[in-house]
Amino acid sequence: MLSEFDIIKQYFTRDITAYPEIIQGIGDDAAIWQQKDSTLVASVDTFLEGKHFFPDCAPEDIAYKALAVNLSDFAAMGAIPRWFTLALTLPEAKPDWLESFSNSLFTLAKQYDLILLGGDTTQGPLSITIQLMGTIDKNKILLRNSAKVGDQIYVSGTLGDAGLALQYLQKKIILSDQIAQAVLPKLHRPQAQVELGLALAGHAHAAIDISDGLAQDLGHILTASHKGADIDLEKLPLSESLTSALVRKDAESLALTAGDDYQLCFTIPQNDPLITQLSKSYQLTLIGEITEKPGLRIHQHGELYTPPIPGWQHFN
Ligand code: ADP
Ligand code: MG
Repeated sequence: MLSEFDIIKQYFTRDITAYPEIIQGIGDDAAIWQQKDSTLVASVDTFLEGKHFFPDCAPEDIAYKALAVNLSDFAAMGAIPRWFTLALTLPEAKPDWLESFSNSLFTLAKQYDLILLGGDTTQGPLSITIQLMGTIDKNKILLRNSAKVGDQIYVSGTLGDAGLALQYLQKKIILSDQIAQAVLPKLHRPQAQVELGLALAGHAHAAIDISDGLAQDLGHILTASHKGADIDLEKLPLSESLTSALVRKDAESLALTAGDDYQLCFTIPQNDPLITQLSKSYQLTLIGEITEKPGLRIHQHGELYTPPIPGWQHFN
């Protein structure tokens, strides 16, 4: 079976090296191109009922997350979001639903001063596609392919909380009300790290947002950069909710492989003073180091560890 990455590579990736205005095409969190004096950025994400959210998900959460995941791709590039379009497919036109959906969408849009430029509305199974556009300083782009040997690998926030909330909604685990209330917003309302991405731009060598699990997403940086990494399982930042809900080994496994956290993973030269400065406002955790030797090696008490499941992939 073809994976989503095989499909993109085999059927949709063409040689575009003859177009010097394209700074980054297929293969990163967003596309970047030069238009006269402006460097422009675009990314698009589709949100499907039953796939990305449950049929009973609140319209305000659906709207929030559909926009937040695009903002997260901008965060991973160090880009400034400015404009968006919305393609909406609805099974039926329910005023209450549309009121809640649009209010939530515009509340988040306002936080970033985003303008809705247009879109498309059709009838069918519920699906939301948002294309986000914006600008970037072309000298400070955070790409996946620029990790250097010796770089330190950091992640922001805590990992695995959204994965825990998902298991709870799937009725795979039981959580206390207190823990459920703490982790459900992590799944439904991811906080895109746009300001952090902008702060890292010009300092970090490579970055990605963690949408499909740390192991897989860091893997994308390693593949694109032709490098490897050693990371320490014990260093992964785990929330109190996660460690009180699960035994250590299950908590670590979620942190490594569960998706939907939308935190940033980035690589930065050793001892960049920016880390100390940013640590006043952000939780930043050093988890490992970039190596010449390819592959991702996960260490646990001195032993090599293999994750029980790979990260999220469509068609698998
Ligand atoms: P992300 O998780 O950051 O949204 P994806 O893993 O979905 O990124 O996509 C990987 C890369 O492939 C991105 O550069 C994306 O723009 C590109 N891509 C995905 N689907 C298609 C498609 N159907 N046609 C062209 N490019 C695609
Ligand atoms: Mg991304």
